[in-house]
Amino acid sequence: MNILLLGSGGREHALAWKMLQSDKCSRLFVAPGNAGTAQIAKNVALNPNDFEAVKQLVLTEKIEMVVVGPEDPLVNGVFDFFKNDAELASIPVIGPSKYGAQLEGSKEFAKEFLVKHNIPTARYESFTAETVEKGYAFLETLSAPYVLKADGLAAGKGVLILNDLAEAKDELKNMLVDAKFGSASAKVVIEEFLSGIELSCFVLTDGKSYKILPTAKDYKRIGEGDTGLNTGGMGAVSPVPFATPEFLAKIEDRVVKPTVAGLQKDNIDYTGFVFIGLIKVGDDPFVIEYNVRMGDPETEVVMPRLKSDLVEIFEAMAKQELDKVALEIDERAATTIMMVSGGYPEDYEKGKVITGIENVTNSIVFHAGTALKDDEVVTSGGRVLAVTSYGSTYQEAIAQSYQSIDKIAFDKMYFRKDIGFDL
Ligand code: ATP
Repeated sequence: MNILLLGSGGREHALAWKMLQSDKCSRLFVAPGNAGTAQIAKNVALNPNDFEAVKQLVLTEKIEMVVVGPEDPLVNGVFDFFKNDAELASIPVIGPSKYGAQLEGSKEFAKEFLVKHNIPTARYESFTAETVEKGYAFLETLSAPYVLKADGLAAGKGVLILNDLAEAKDELKNMLVDAKFGSASAKVVIEEFLSGIELSCFVLTDGKSYKILPTAKDYKRIGEGDTGLNTGGMGAVSPVPFATPEFLAKIEDRVVKPTVAGLQKDNIDYTGFVFIGLIKVGDDPFVIEYNVRMGDPETEVVMPRLKSDLVEIFEAMAKQELDKVALEIDERAATTIMMVSGGYPEDYEKGKVITGIENVTNSIVFHAGTALKDDEVVTSGGRVLAVTSYGSTYQEAIAQSYQSIDKIAFDKMYFRKDIGFDL
C-alpha cells in the first residue's frame, strides 16, 4: 500500500525506516521529511498542517494510510478532517481525533482525564486570569518546589519549576495576566512536585485494546549531568534498566489499562500511539504527562527494538483488531545519542556540511535536522543526527554509538558524552 508519513524529524526517519521493512509498504511518502527520509522514501515539500495540501497529495498519489509523526496536525484535527471528508473518510489516519489530542494539547484536559479515571498523578488545580488570587492561595498550601504548567502547547517550554514561593506567584501572574506563553498560558495548571526518576512508556491502541512497546528514558538537558537548558532530547536508552517486571506490571495495571478504558468510556476516537511520561516515586508510577504521538529521540530506540511488522500493526489498529496482533521485541538494548548544532538550544548556525555518515557500519544513523544541498547532506536544525546502536547491555550499545559518532563530523557539532550516566 502507499503510505504518507507526516513530519520531518529523527522520529519520522525512524518510523519510515521501520515501515519500509514491511512487505506491505509499496510506496512511502514523507511530508516534508529530511535528508535521511529522502534517501529511503519520497519527500514531498508540504506543511503537515495544511490539510488541503495533504488531501491533494493523498488523492494524487493514491495514499491508503496516513501516519502522523508530530502532535500539531493531530491537535489541529487532521484525523477529523479525514473522517469528515467523503473522499478521505475510508483512509486510516494513525493518531487520535482532535478531541483525544487534547490529552497533549491541554494539560487541564489531561489532568481531568487522569483524575476521572483514577490514574495516579500529582494533585493539581487550574486557574485563569480571573482566579489568579486563588492560584496564589493554592500555591501557599503547597511546599517548594512549585510546578506551574501552561495549559496549551508551548513547544516544551511551558512548564516552570520554581523553588521560591514569591517567584512562583510572580510567574503565575506573568503567565495568566501578562500572557507569558501567549494563549497557551491563558490557563495554568499548578501541581504538587513529585520527586523521582522519569521514564516513558509507549502504548499502541485502537481505542479498544492496547499493546505496550518497550520503555525508554530520554535525556532532556543540553549539559552533562543533566544540567543547562531543556532540549528536544539529547539521547535515549531502551529498555529502562530500573523498570523491573514488577514495576512494569504496576504501570500496566494502574496506568495503561485505565487509560485505554478511559478512552473508551469517554468515547474518544483514538487509533495511534500514546506516550505516557511517568515518574517513579518510591516504587510507584505517577503520570506526568500524555503525548499523543511517539517521542523523539525515544522512537529512535523503540522502533529498532520492534521486530514485528509495523504496517501490519497499523492495519490491525485501523480495523480495531489490535488484540489479534502479537508484538515481538528484540531482547537487545538500543541507545541513541543526538548530535546537535553548536549553540543549540539557543542560536546556532545551519548549512554545515556533514561528512562520514557513510563510514558508520555498526550503528543506524537517523537524520533529524538535515537537508540536501547540491547533493551534500547539510545541517538544517538544532538536533541533527541520532546515532542508534544495539548492544547486549545498554553500556555496550552506548559505547558503540560513541565509536560511530567518531566517524561523523560537522562544524561546531556537539553531543553529550554521558548518556546513561544515571542508570
Ligand atoms: P515536554 O518537554 O516533555 O513536552 P511538557 O512541556 O509537555 O514537556 P511536562 O512533561 O508536563 O511538560 O513537564 C516537563 C517536565 O517537568 C517533566 O518532564 C518533568 O521533568 C517536570 N515535571 C512536570 N511535572 C512535574 C511534577 N509534578 N513534579 C516534578 N516534576 C515535574
